[in-house]
Amino acid sequence: MTERLEGETGLARAVELLRAGELVAIPTETVYGLAADVTNGEAVAGIFEAKGRPRFNPLICHLASLEAADQVGVIEGAARRLAQAFWPGPLTLVVPLRAEAGLSPLVTAGLDSVALRVPALPLAHALLEAFGGPVAAPSANPSGKISPSTAAHVAQALTGRIAAVLDGGPAEVGVESTIVECSGDAPRLLRPGGLPVEALEAALGAPLNRTAPVNDTEPSAPGQLSSHYAPGKPVRLNVTEPPEGAIFLAFGPGYPQADANLSQAGDLREAAANLFAMLHRLDALPGEEICVAPIPQQGLGLAINDRLTRAAAPRG
Ligand code: AMP
Ligand code: MG
Repeated sequence: MTERLEGETGLARAVELLRAGELVAIPTETVYGLAADVTNGEAVAGIFEAKGRPRFNPLICHLASLEAADQVGVIEGAARRLAQAFWPGPLTLVVPLRAEAGLSPLVTAGLDSVALRVPALPLAHALLEAFGGPVAAPSANPSGKISPSTAAHVAQALTGRIAAVLDGGPAEVGVESTIVECSGDAPRLLRPGGLPVEALEAALGAPLNRTAPVNDTEPSAPGQLSSHYAPGKPVRLNVTEPPEGAIFLAFGPGYPQADANLSQAGDLREAAANLFAMLHRLDALPGEEICVAPIPQQGLGLAINDRLTRAAAPRG
């Protein structure tokens, strides 16, 4: 069952559900987002499951204000100028992540940068204020389908897969946010969107670097995303009996000797929530390579295996 929520009581219910680790589709001025508590790894994993997303690409973190965003990312220089000029609004900034912010690594796909946005829609703002923390939210549509600009679109596509839809009327902008990366030297356009590039350039007083567009839905090659996390050690997949001295990442019951287990219970949502944190931890252990137990190729297993396969691919 997916609840249809509206008004004051709907907002309170949406907050309650988010706190309980449920998925709630929320209105914003760009498109409807599928929101989860950023600190709850299993809730964030649920986003990928509900969308049927075959890849763990990093998600946009939605916040109530610039002050709230300051707690999560380092917003300086050009990023700060853009935030002050265009937030709240359809602009997402990719900035260095504050490790102490407590985000599930699944939100950033294990990266040390984070995508932040302060939405302008008053209902989205009210929700974020009442929730009291950031939510991760990609567009609230099944993977590969068009983004939803009404609550009815969301309900049509995701009923039964998410806890609720908060109805805030039709999305005014109707296309996704413009994404600018400000973690390197010069700001770079990662995705054109609802905020015109000309407006950004006027605010910066300089042209934007537009050389590296990111295809976030279908990267044709590993690494086409502007950056992605991979462990430093070689990774070997589908290992059931790791060699002496290897680091072993297990999945499911029956691996008492493993260095870590993505999910003792064999639960893919728990495994997804643990994936990046465990890879980071194992990468820091002494040992030549990381061996990973087989992960079933179904549901969230597709995204887990996609990331592991890329980590195991020969490095150029
Ligand atoms: P979506 O949430 O589906 O609107 O897509 C989010 C977009 O932001 C994707 O294109 C991601 O690749 C991009 N993105 C989010 N976080 C980061 C990050 N830390 N570094 C680079 N790109 C990011
Ligand atoms: Mg989308």
